[in-house]
Parts: sequence; C-alpha cells; structure tokens
Amino acid sequence: MSVENSTQDLIARRNRLLGPAYRLFYEQPVQVVRGDGVWLYDQAGNRYLDAYNNVACVGHCHPRVVEAIARQAAIVNTHTRYLHETVLDYAERLLATFPPEIGNVMFTCTGSESNDLALRVARTCTGGTGVVVTKTAYHGVTGLLAELSPSLGLPEPTAPHVRLVPAPQPAGDATGDIFAGHIRAAFDDMKRSGIRPAALLVDTIFSSDGVFADPPGFLRPAVDAARAAGALFIADEVQPGFGRCGDGLWGFARHGLIPDVVTMGKPMGNGHPVAAMAARPELLKEFGARSRYFNTFGGNPVSAAAATAVLDVIEQEGLVENAKRTGAYLRERIVALRDRHDLIHDVRGAGLFIGVELRRGDAPAAKETAQLVNGLRARHVLISAAGPNANVLKVRPPLVFGREHADLLIETLDQALRDIPRG
Ligand code: PMP
Repeated sequence: MSVENSTQDLIARRNRLLGPAYRLFYEQPVQVVRGDGVWLYDQAGNRYLDAYNNVACVGHCHPRVVEAIARQAAIVNTHTRYLHETVLDYAERLLATFPPEIGNVMFTCTGSESNDLALRVARTCTGGTGVVVTKTAYHGVTGLLAELSPSLGLPEPTAPHVRLVPAPQPAGDATGDIFAGHIRAAFDDMKRSGIRPAALLVDTIFSSDGVFADPPGFLRPAVDAARAAGALFIADEVQPGFGRCGDGLWGFARHGLIPDVVTMGKPMGNGHPVAAMAARPELLKEFGARSRYFNTFGGNPVSAAAATAVLDVIEQEGLVENAKRTGAYLRERIVALRDRHDLIHDVRGAGLFIGVELRRGDAPAAKETAQLVNGLRARHVLISAAGPNANVLKVRPPLVFGREHADLLIETLDQALRDIPRG
C-alpha cells in the first residue's frame, strides 16, 4: 500500500473510532513512528525537525528519562497513599526552584488537573467563584477549565463567574498599566453582578493569545490589581515552565512575581504524564482542613523518577542557558528575514518560545500563516500557529535545539516564505 493510501486509511479509521471532536495538525497529517532528540520520523523513514514540542523538552526519548522510567517500573509502581521516598526527593528538588513562599506541592497527571485543583484551592480560600482569564486563553479540558479556555470556542455569553480581558499588548503598554486596568475593570464588573473574585489565572507567556513575554515585569500591575480585588494569582506555567524562557525555570519569575499558586505539566516528565500544583502552605492549610486530596496516578514513583531525570538533564546539559542562547540567535535570524519578507510584522518571545506575527499591510495574515505552517511541514519542519487571528507562528522546539537546528529552521522558513503568493 502506498504511504498516501495508508495515511488516508489511518485518518478514516481514526475518525470512525475517535469521533469528530479531535483535530489533526497539518493539511497532510504526519504519522509519527519514532523520535530522537529534536527529530521525529514518519512511517516512510522521513526525518522532521521538531520545532513545536514543549513536552519533549530534553529531546524525544532522552535515554536518561527512558532509563529512569524503566528502572522504577521494574521495581514497583504504587501511589501516594503508601510512603515512598522518590516523590519526596522530587518534591524537595522542585520546591527548591521556587521562591521560599511556595512551600508545598501536590501531584497530578495533566496540566488541566493542576489548574482544576488550583481553582478549587482559590475558591476555598477566597470564598469566591469569579475568575478572570485572557480572551484567547487555554487552560485545559475539564468542565471547569473549558469555561476558562476561550480559545476552544466558548458559548456566548460565557459563564456568569468568568470575565475575559484582552491579552496584554506590551509593545504599546510596557508598564502593563493598561492591562492592569482591564483586570481591575473585569473584577469590578464581576463584583457588581454579586460574584466574589477567586482568581486571576494567566499563562505567564500568553501562548495561545499570541506569545507576549517582554518587557519582564509588565505583568506585575495586573497581579496587584487582582490581589486588590481579593483574588489569588494562579501562574499557569504549563507552557513557559521548566526553563523554556531561558531565564530561570519559571515565567512568573521573569516578571519578578511571587504567585499564590503555580501550575505545571507538559515538559515535567518529557512525555510521561506527570504534572503538579505548588502553592503557599497557608492556602493549602485552609484547603486541607476542608477537603482531602488523592490522585491515583499523580505522584506515583515512576512519574517521580521520570520528573527527577528531567530536572537532572536540564541541569546537567545546561538547557536553560541553551534556551537563552539558541533562542536569542533564532529570534535574531527571524528578525533578519524581515528585510526580505514584509509579511513578518513582529518577532517576540523569550528563550525557545517565539511568536512571529504575520500581517499583510495592516491586516492579520491568517491564510498566509496557515500556508506557511503547511509549507514548512511539506519541507519536514514542524511548527504551528496561535493568536486570536491565527496569524502568529508559534516556534517552540525541545530545549536541546542547537544552532545548526536553528539554521535549518531559518533556511526552510525563508524558502517557505518565498512560496507564499504576494498579496
Ligand atoms: N495550560 C496551558 C497554558 C496549556 O497550554 C495546556 C495544554 N495545552 C494546559 C494548561 C492543559 O494541559 P493538559 O493538556 O496537560 O491537560
């Protein structure tokens, strides 16, 4: 059977079995059969440069992580109702990466579960229900979080306890005062409807809103406004966390902030499903007095071993420094492409999280962005797009991405841009 036929068969089978709610990447979906470092391989043996994987942060199938998982799985896998040292050793390691105010960590399996738990803590501790999120936010799949994830396509009007604010526009609001004004107004409006604030929940690099990272500190006034309204600040670090921004491990720290609650997931186990919520102990004291928590799989010894290996590799291979260095190089080279390609309107981000906004004149170039993402895929380079107008290329490679990979990405992007018809 030809590769084309087998791909079509798989798509048909998938639709028949998994139903219509799933979406595939790319007009020509990729069947991935193997991964190694920054590379993915399809069933025909073609190699793809993976520039869109914040899960496999230390590289696909890193031997240290694979070995840690296999070793612990061969000894025992249980849960956190038994005593086991591995999860405590990991908790110590992880908590040491946070400011001392963040003193407890609870384990889950997904970013969604972490955000869901964070909201339960916020609601318990504030007595409120109201949450403010950005207009194109994504925070997860649970019922509670789907209501706080407008990028999924929310029903109109949104749930009564939810207020949406425009994403920050730091290019014209470097101090963040305009963004803070939106947050203040949203909480005021919520209170006027008799809803008590519980939380400001933001992804600290605003990934699905189109990637807004700089200048560091622009988020501070917004957090002050949320706290003045009686809400807690939940830093969603599922995307920026674990060193991606090239400046310490956490996106909130770049802004000089100390959150009330931090949520994390995706890269934490390099593909193994492990996630967590860390918080100020005084909040968990209150939460723990009123609820109990058990998660069958969250924090099991195999997950803790995987997560420990990931921290080891990040440290030993200097991946935060690499994210900073390679990220700066990549951004510089994309900026240089602007001379030849006037579609490129803005290049932004931090470390190895880069957003490239495309415009045709004044208009968001959504069609061209989709053409580019597919043009790159046809040339075996994988990225995607984000933002409310789907006109921001999202470049988010594994943290082991080197200069040679950045060069290949740039060459291929240059070629794919040349193929976009002039508007
Ligand atoms: N928060 C953010 C910012 C995310 O990007 C995601 C996943 N894309 C989640 C939460 C949810 O994580 P998960 O898919 O592991 O539930």
